[in-house]
Amino acid sequence: MQHAVTQPIPPFKTADGRLEIHGIPVWVDNLSWLAVCTRTGAAVVIDGPEAPPVLAKCAALGAELTGVLNTHVHGDHVGVNQGLAKLGLLGGLTVCGPAKQAAKVPGLTRGVGEGDRVQIGAVEGQVWLTEGHQDGHVSFVFGDALFCGDTLFAGGCGYLFDGPPAKMHASLQRLMTLDGATRAFCAHEYTQDNLRFAWFVEPDNAALAARIRRDWATRATGGCTLPGTLAEERASNPFVRVDSATIRRRVAAELPERALDSGEAVFAATRALKDTKRHKDAVPDAALPLLG
Ligand SMILES: [Zn+2]
Repeated sequence: MQHAVTQPIPPFKTADGRLEIHGIPVWVDNLSWLAVCTRTGAAVVIDGPEAPPVLAKCAALGAELTGVLNTHVHGDHVGVNQGLAKLGLLGGLTVCGPAKQAAKVPGLTRGVGEGDRVQIGAVEGQVWLTEGHQDGHVSFVFGDALFCGDTLFAGGCGYLFDGPPAKMHASLQRLMTLDGATRAFCAHEYTQDNLRFAWFVEPDNAALAARIRRDWATRATGGCTLPGTLAEERASNPFVRVDSATIRRRVAAELPERALDSGEAVFAATRALKDTKRHKDAVPDAALPLLG
């Protein structure tokens, strides 16, 4: 099956030009990110379901794969480790993944959690524990580059497989304390479904309308909507906008049995509402603000 992203993803320079980040479309909507230290040439892959596309990208760039960073241990995030192991290429790599799930990270050389530091070549990053999608889930912060796995998506957030909602709410709110210019390198191209839901619950948000127009145009030609900025998320992602009166009103109308007496409760109900998938029928393309 063809990947949702069919156009090349332009590389991003981040962390004051010390990292160059390349997006690698894998499977149908997964994105592996390959971060190359511009000083040492060391290349580290963050998450992914399989190894060959990552190795092909390294070969094309003339970069040497030196490590793997895993945000969590779902198969489409540690599959790259398994693939490298099958090819005899995992030994010798530095593999950092969630300490809480150490047994499930193939080739793990170092379990990491809150407050730890990790390296991509000469560039040091921070590890944040961002649970809610899966216990032990970590995010990696390298200057203005955020690798957030399945915690934050463009316009959305991950499923609450392990939960509870309070943990995911806290994780997302904490990510929003990063500078607004920070780029979020999410692990899936899910943006259109996320923004369709966002419009379902906040149809009076002008920033969201502008984002929908832009991202629909990008996707119409097979482009990638990632990475976006955290400022965009603050302005249009319903899962971090629990103070929006419109969202509270819309969620209350759809799920009248839920008490919406705190930000955490609004987040939990908003996530539950998206899980019903009723936005898919309720907001057809014709109902989106696609014409400026
Ligand atoms: Zn996951």
